[in-house]
Amino acid sequence: KHVEIADFTPITPTAAISAAAHGGRAKCLQRLIRLDLPVPRTLALSVDQVRSIAAGRRPYTEQMLHELESPLVSVRPSSESADWGGPAAILNIGMCDRTHADLAVNLGERAADAIYARFIQAFAVHVARLDPEAFDLPARPDATTIASLLDAYETERGATFPQDPADQLADALRSMARSWDGPTARLLRQARGAPAEAGLGLVVQQMALGVGRRHEGESGSGVIQFIDSATGLPQITGRYLSQSQGREALLAEEGAIYLTQDPRGPSLEDIAPEILDTLTAHGTLCRRRLREEMQIEFTIDGGHLAILDAVRVPRSSRAGVRVAVALASDGVIPQAEAVARVEPRALSELLHPQVDPAHPPDVFASGIAASPGAATGRLVFSARAAQAAQAREEPCILVRRETTPDDVRGMHASVGVLTEKGGATSHAAVIARGLGLPCVVGAGGIAIDQRSATLTGDKGRTFREGDWITLDGTGGVALAGAVPLLEPALDDAFRTLLSWADDARDIGVRANADTPAEAQVARTFEAEGIGLCRTEHMFFEGDRLTVMREMIFTDNAEDREAALRRLLPVQRSDFVRLFRIMEGQPVCIRLLDPPLHEFLPAGPDALHDMAESLNLSLRSVTARVEALREFNPMLGMRGVRLGIAIPEIYEMQSRAIFEATVEAGGGVVPEIMVPLVSARREVELVKGRVDAVAAAVKAETGANFDYRLGVMVETPRAALRAEEIAANVAFLSFGTNDLTQMTYGLSRDDAGRFMGAYVAEGVFIEDPFLRLDVDGVGELLTLGAERGRAGHPGITLSVCGEHGGDPESIAFCRAAGFDYVSCSPFRVPLARLAAAQIAL
Ligand code: PEP
Ligand code: MG
Repeated sequence: KHVEIADFTPITPTAAISAAAHGGRAKCLQRLIRLDLPVPRTLALSVDQVRSIAAGRRPYTEQMLHELESPLVSVRPSSESADWGGPAAILNIGMCDRTHADLAVNLGERAADAIYARFIQAFAVHVARLDPEAFDLPARPDATTIASLLDAYETERGATFPQDPADQLADALRSMARSWDGPTARLLRQARGAPAEAGLGLVVQQMALGVGRRHEGESGSGVIQFIDSATGLPQITGRYLSQSQGREALLAEEGAIYLTQDPRGPSLEDIAPEILDTLTAHGTLCRRRLREEMQIEFTIDGGHLAILDAVRVPRSSRAGVRVAVALASDGVIPQAEAVARVEPRALSELLHPQVDPAHPPDVFASGIAASPGAATGRLVFSARAAQAAQAREEPCILVRRETTPDDVRGMHASVGVLTEKGGATSHAAVIARGLGLPCVVGAGGIAIDQRSATLTGDKGRTFREGDWITLDGTGGVALAGAVPLLEPALDDAFRTLLSWADDARDIGVRANADTPAEAQVARTFEAEGIGLCRTEHMFFEGDRLTVMREMIFTDNAEDREAALRRLLPVQRSDFVRLFRIMEGQPVCIRLLDPPLHEFLPAGPDALHDMAESLNLSLRSVTARVEALREFNPMLGMRGVRLGIAIPEIYEMQSRAIFEATVEAGGGVVPEIMVPLVSARREVELVKGRVDAVAAAVKAETGANFDYRLGVMVETPRAALRAEEIAANVAFLSFGTNDLTQMTYGLSRDDAGRFMGAYVAEGVFIEDPFLRLDVDGVGELLTLGAERGRAGHPGITLSVCGEHGGDPESIAFCRAAGFDYVSCSPFRVPLARLAAAQIAL
C-alpha cells in the first residue's frame, strides 16, 4: 500500500529494515511495531541515504510528510549501536505560522505558543546553528515571545524563519546528517568503540504531541523501565511530566512525577492507572520478545498512549550480570547467551569498590591502571608512615617513586598505592594485584618531595601528608578528596553466572597466590588450584625479610646454614597452610627467584636496620650491599642461577615443601617449579638435588608421597630449547612477564615511562605486559609448546604471567592447546568468564 520511494522506507512489520542499513533505532522500532505496540507512523532513512543528504542532495521531504499524514514530525538519530550517540533529536518540525494557528484552535493558545517557541529555538540553535544566547525562552512563552524569536532569527540568520514544513524537514535532515561527520562527533563515537566508517541512519516520526487537549484526558510524556539501573533488581523506575514532550520529564527540575504510588508525591498510577497497566504489559512483552530489559519512551496524547522509542536500559556492571542471569533463569535466553552477554572486564568492577560515576572526578594525577578498584585515604609517603596510620586505624594511600620489598609492609598497611615510576608488571603493580589493592603506577606527571612530605600533581596542585585523596585503580587516576565509592557485589547472580561459565569452558583457571590470605581469595573465586606461588613474597612479611637478608648477605656457609635453619620451619608452616586451604587442589610452588636488588636494603634507614640485626658496622653492611649490587639485576643472579650457585637455598625449600606435604597429609601432590631456566643442565642439576631431598624426607618420616617438578619458561632460550628441557620434567609454565621483558629487551620496571607514547604512536597496540604480544612473544609460546610436547608428549602446559588474566591472551593460550592459565586471584572470575566465552 505504501509507495516505495528510494529516499526512505516506511517502517512496517514486513519492511526490509536492518540495523546495519538503517541503524539500531529503526530496527528496534520495527520490532516494537511487530509486537503491535502503538508506535506512531515512522520512516527510516538508511545510512547511504543520509550520506547522500550530507553530500548535498535534497531529500524528498514533501513525500515524507505526505506519507506520515501529520502536520508535525520528529527526527531522531539511528546509529548502528545506541552507544555511539548521534545528533540531538529535533521535535515539532512543521511548526510555522499556519500550524501554530491550527494548534491554537485545537490545543489552546498556551500549548500552541509553547510548542512554536520551543521549535523556533531548537531550529535556530541545532539546525541554523545560531547563537543560543539570542534564543532564550521565558518560563511561559506567549505571542510576544514568538514574534521576538522570529525577529531574532531573521537578524541572526539574515533570512526569514522557514515557513514551509518540507523546507524545515530538509534543513533538519541535512543538519543532522552533516553533524555526524564533524570532528568532535567522530572522536566522541570512536572513544565509545565505533569504527571510523560508522554511519548514521535517521528516523522521521509522526509527532505524538503530549500537550493540550486537557478536556480529552491526560497528555504528557515520560520514560519507563522495569529494573533499577544500579542494582538490576525488578523495579518500575522512571518519570512522567504532564503537558510535556520528548525527554522533558527526565530533565525537568520540577513537575515531573513518579510512575508508581510513592509517599513523596503524586504518581502516574494515581492519575492514569490504566496507562501504567498498559505500559507494564508492554514492558513484559518487550522483555520476552526482544529478550532484553528495555527503557521505553512514551507519550500520552489526550488519554491515548503512544510508544515513541525503546532502548536497552543503561545499566551498571552489577545490573548487567543480574539482568543476564534473570533473563536466562526465566527461560527468555539460554544460559550460554547470558554468559556471552557479560563483558569479562566488567566483572572486576564487581569485585572491588568503584568510584561512583555520578560524582564529577577531580583528577590530579594519571598513570597506568595497574590494579583495579578504588579507595579513599590519607596521603602517606613512606612505609613507616603507612604502618603508623594503620595503627591509628586511619586508611592511607601510599605514594612512592617506586616500591621495593621494604615497602611491602607499608603496602599491606595501605588501602591503595600510587607510584611515579614503573609499568604494568613492576613490583608495586604485581604486589598490589596480589593484595587486591587499587594501584596506579607510572604517574609520570607527579613530583614527590620526600623531605617535606608533599606531592605536586597536575597544574602544580600540592598535597601534603595527611591530605585525603581517592585512588581509582580501574581508571588509572588519583582524585582530590574523599570521593563517594560503590561497594563490591558478589551476589548470587554473580556466582550463578560463573557456574554457567565453568560448564562452558575448556581451559583451566588457577590463581597466582603467595600467601594464605591470597590462597583464601583464590578459593573464594573458585580457582582450580594455585598456578604460581612466588616464595620470595612469603619473606616480605614480619621479621622474615631480615632473616632472608641475613641469608643472602652472609659470606660463609656456616652463617648461611644458620639463617636457612631459621627459615625452614617458617616456610614449612606456610606450605602446610597453603595445602590445607587448597584442600587437595594442585599447588605449584616456585623455588626462590629474587632479583637480588629487590632484597637489597635501600636508603639509610634500611641499611641501619640491617647493620643492627646482623650486628655489623654500618660501613661493612654498606660494603657488602655494594659488593652484591648488580648492574642489571633482572638479568643477574636470580632464579635457577641462585639455586645453582647456592644449592642450600633450594634444598631448604624442597625440604620445607616435602615436610609440609607429609604434615598436611590428604594425598597432596606438590608441584615444584624452577624459575628463569635457560639450559637443560640447570634443570638436571636442580632435579638431582630435589630428588635427593625427597628421598631423604621419605626415609626420615617413613611417609610416601609424589611430587611433580616443572620448569618456568621465561627466557627465549628456554622456549627455543623446550624439547630437551621438557624431557626431564612434568610441566612447563610460561612466565610471560619475564618472557615479554626478554623478548623485547624491555624492562618491566622502567617501561611505564614511555609506554604511553608507544601506545599513542601505535608502536604497541596495547602495553605488551598486559596484553600478550601474539606476534613475537606468542610465537615463542607456540614454538615452546610444540617443542615441549615433542620432547615429552602429554606434558602439562600453562601460562602464569599477568597475561593469564587477559581475555585475548587466554584465547591465544587456548588455541595453542595450553592446559590452564594462572592469574592474580582477583582476576580469576574474569578469566573464568572469558575462557567460557572463547569456548562458546
Ligand atoms: C613471569 O615472569 O611471568 C612470572 C610469572 O614471574 P615473575 O612475575 O615473578 O617474574
Ligand atoms: Mg618471572
